[in-house]
Order: sequence, then C-alpha cells, then structure tokens
Amino acid sequence: MSSAADRGWGSGWPNGQADKQVRVVAGGVKVNVRREVAPLFEWALRETAKVGYQLKQEQTGAYVNRPIGGTRTASNHSWGLAIDLNWQENPFTRDANAKRTITPAVVAVWKRAGFSWGGDWSGKKDFMHFEFVGTPGDAATLVARLPLTAHAATTKEEPMTAAERKEVEALRSALFEDRKVIENLKGMLERVESRFTVPGLAAPVVDAAVTPSGGGYWLVAADGGVFNRGDAGFHGSLAGTKLEAAVCGIEATETGRGYTLFAADGGVFPFGDAVFHGTALTAG
Ligand SMILES: [Zn+2]
Repeated sequence: MSSAADRGWGSGWPNGQADKQVRVVAGGVKVNVRREVAPLFEWALRETAKVGYQLKQEQTGAYVNRPIGGTRTASNHSWGLAIDLNWQENPFTRDANAKRTITPAVVAVWKRAGFSWGGDWSGKKDFMHFEFVGTPGDAATLVARLPLTAHAATTKEEPMTAAERKEVEALRSALFEDRKVIENLKGMLERVESRFTVPGLAAPVVDAAVTPSGGGYWLVAADGGVFNRGDAGFHGSLAGTKLEAAVCGIEATETGRGYTLFAADGGVFPFGDAVFHGTALTAG
C-alpha cells in the first residue's frame, strides 16, 4: 500500500500537519481533517447520518499526529486523511466476525467518497477506520462531482428506524450464533465420518449398536456385513447371503452376547443369544 506521502500529501508523523487541517461539522459530529478532502468528509458524514447511523462525538475523530499503533509508520490520521467512527462499537481486532455497528450502507457511503475501510483489510480488521486513498488530484475530482449521487438511484437507502436497527442487530447476532452451531456440527460430522469409514465392509454402514458395557460396538453395512470392535463379540452376519432387501439396522441383546439385524423389507435375522420373534411383517 502506498503511503500518503507517496501520493503527494507531504510528510506525515512525526511532522505534524495541524496547519493544513480544517474543522468539519456534519452528521452530528465535529472533526479536524485535511483541507482538500474536507468536502468529502463533510458529505460522507452527512450521508452516514442519513442512512441511519448515529455518530457519537466522544468516539469519533480524524486528525491526530501519531504513528500506526505499535509501529513507527505514520498513520493516515497524521495527515488528516483518516477517520475513526464510534470506536468503542467498532473494534480493531483479528476477529473478522467481531460485533460492530458499522453497516454495509455506511461502508458504501465512504467508498463512494474515495475512502477505503479498515474492515476490508486482510489480517487485523480496523472496523472503525476509513481513510482517503487517492491523491490530491483525485480529491479535487471527487469534490467537483459533489454531491456524489452517481449510485444513489440504484442504492436508494432510507434511514432505518430505531426499531429496524434493533431488529437488524438481533438478526446479526443470531446469524453469528448460527454460524458457531454450524461450525460445531461440521466438526462432529467429520469425526463421525472418519469413525464410520470401515475398511473391509463392502457396503456403506447403515447402523450401529453399543455393547451393554459401552466398551465396544457393532457396525452393520447395507449388505448385512457386521464389524465388531472392543468387547463386542462376532456372532455371525449376512455377508455373502443373497438378500431380498438391504439391511438397515442392528440391535444388541440385553446381555450383549447377540444381536438382531433388520432388513428394509421387514426381515429379521437373530444372531448369538438373540431370539427370533417373527418378522416385522407378521408380528402382531
Ligand atoms: Zn483509524
């Protein structure tokens, strides 16, 4: 990324540019910004309020003669080219899903005015931060085009009511919760799938039964093959038998010394100490 100095804005921190700043009052806040870009800041702050975003003065600022936090690199704030909006609600974080209040509509406003958003950065996200990425010439071109309504016809945004904002906020946090649940489910599925990939069984595993001790289990495949593990004993299977219908279930006996296989057509096949009580088709 080019620095503001490379783009023709003079030197930033530690050299202060206080004399090149002007005060802008718009969207319910006052900020000091670089003179040539001030009309763009003013327009974007006003539009930010118009799309329903409530700016908070005590959490909003632009010009500060300082380096980027934890570095010796000049921050765009030291040229008055960057602004932080509601910084307590829009964190600087590695968590791309972190809770924030900046909305896509707000981001769209600032982009239209030639700013890039810290929330788009790869790696650490700076959700509060917007910075002007053009040259002084770009700023002059954009200022001449004000108001920047080029996209207004296609992205007509009405300010949200407080109730709508609350609803959007609730939806966003619900979505975040859902994402966590889905991630957990995916992890569970992967673990289950790897356990159920059984070499030696020709057909897919369709059911499983656990021994009474919990120290073993049987898996049964659609072709009637049985796979036993731990303290689960092998008492026979239907593997190699010509079946009318696929096997779909296995149930262990109370003692764990036998099991019954069930087929999709109601066929019942006892093994070990399992007792034949008739097929599902004929049982009362
Ligand atoms: Zn910033």
